[in-house]
Amino acid sequence: MSEERWDVVVIGAGFSGLTAARDLSEQGRRVLVLEGRDRPGGRTWYRNFADTDHLVEMGGTWISNVWMTALMEEVNRYGVELVDQEGMDSFSWATGGEVRKHAPIPPEEFAAAEPALIALHQAFLRTPDGELREGDDYSDLDVPVSEWPPFVALPTATKEFVFAWAAMYAGCGPENVSVMHFSMMLSGFGNNVSALHYGLSQRYSHGTKELINALANNLDVRYNEAVSRIEDTADGVVITTETGTFVAKRVICTVPINSLHRVTFSPELPEAARGMAKKGTTSQSIKSWALCRNVPKGFLGIGWKTGFEWSAEVYRLEDETSLVCSFGVEDNLVNATDIESVQNALRRFEPGIEVIKIDSHDWRADRFADGTSMIVEPGWIVNNDCHAFAAPHGSVYFAGADHSVQWTGWMEGAVRSGKAVSAQVHESL
Ligand SMILES: Cc1cc2nc3c(=O)[nH]c(=O)nc-3n(C[C@H](O)[C@H](O)[C@H](O)COP(=O)(O)OP(=O)(O)OC[C@H]3O[C@@H](n4cnc5c(N)ncnc54)[C@H](O)[C@@H]3O)c2cc1C
Repeated sequence: MSEERWDVVVIGAGFSGLTAARDLSEQGRRVLVLEGRDRPGGRTWYRNFADTDHLVEMGGTWISNVWMTALMEEVNRYGVELVDQEGMDSFSWATGGEVRKHAPIPPEEFAAAEPALIALHQAFLRTPDGELREGDDYSDLDVPVSEWPPFVALPTATKEFVFAWAAMYAGCGPENVSVMHFSMMLSGFGNNVSALHYGLSQRYSHGTKELINALANNLDVRYNEAVSRIEDTADGVVITTETGTFVAKRVICTVPINSLHRVTFSPELPEAARGMAKKGTTSQSIKSWALCRNVPKGFLGIGWKTGFEWSAEVYRLEDETSLVCSFGVEDNLVNATDIESVQNALRRFEPGIEVIKIDSHDWRADRFADGTSMIVEPGWIVNNDCHAFAAPHGSVYFAGADHSVQWTGWMEGAVRSGKAVSAQVHESL
């Protein structure tokens, strides 16, 4: 068994861990990154679609070059190329028992939708730039989307339209995500409700991998090193993996909240952190890719109880087939590993679609994720769960999109958190 000593061991080579490790190593610290998988990137993964040469993102994909400022600093620093996400303007809105091609909600419901829009804008003012205002009482907003009075009052098709977007973004039903999730997210996008559709307007031309590799360049990253124990001792923090032990003055742990139960901490985590780790995030998105024929150019489908809440043509290929990406939340409505089930779900938007091949990654069954993204669940803010991992546990610090109160669950949150926590660690050494 080897025992190696470091200033800082960072656990996890996703956006957060790599940003933190890069910053600390630039500050002259001796840093090691331990990664459980055989690749960097974590919940982003740019890989071949099925057995083809087409490359697609199985996890995090879309960003904003306007509002995601920490991520853009990294993009610009390394000269990473972005591409505008074009298309997605040939609509199928499937709510209220019909599929509409023009207005997203029935015109007769426009007037009734307006109070909800006004209420949302009032909420944005209380979370300026997606941040919490010190001393504000958010108990009226930190409630399930399905129970918020301005949404409850909506007529059927419009309510289902709201629920479809909520489920798509949160990866769970509207009863499990807080209105605060959308208030913080959409105020982060410049107080803009239409950012649900237009906000994430870029992706990486050569995949998330390009930025991930740029961050990892020059770092000592060891793969296939699943950490099982972190013990804070008088002689340093001892990190145990399947291959050996490593000792560091400080540890930055970026293990996703749903996988934290796989790591033993000594001393035990404080009660609030243990509670949060046990609860985890209910976000369980099913992300599916399908190679299809007969897809209308620029296809976008939004629907409620349609299997996929969101489906869109992301790539139009030269032979006029399309790579369609979809998100769903209900296993009983869609099975991303079954071609017929995927086709049935897509046909709820566009009856002529023919699916040729499918591919997906089950993040829920992935032992280094155990779920998809962190979301603001009802009560996360008012119960102070959002700060459960804010303070270091002895010499162990926590970073990651799952702990970032701004841009919670996004690549932007991961980078912000990595930068903020590495600065704290540097200061502490
Ligand atoms: C399907 C899906 C779609 C998404 N879409 C978007 C999007 O369009 N835009 C966007 O901004 N975000 C999106 N996200 C979210 C975004 O990808 C993540 O929030 C972000 O990448 C998380 O970064 P992180 O560094 O905090 O965590 P991770 O990327 O999860 O990194 C943590 C690392 O820790 C490693 N690890 C875990 N356990 C251990 C262990 N015991 N020992 C050692 N290593 C361990 C993991 O393998 C991983 O590499 C999406 C996520 C998913 C899953």
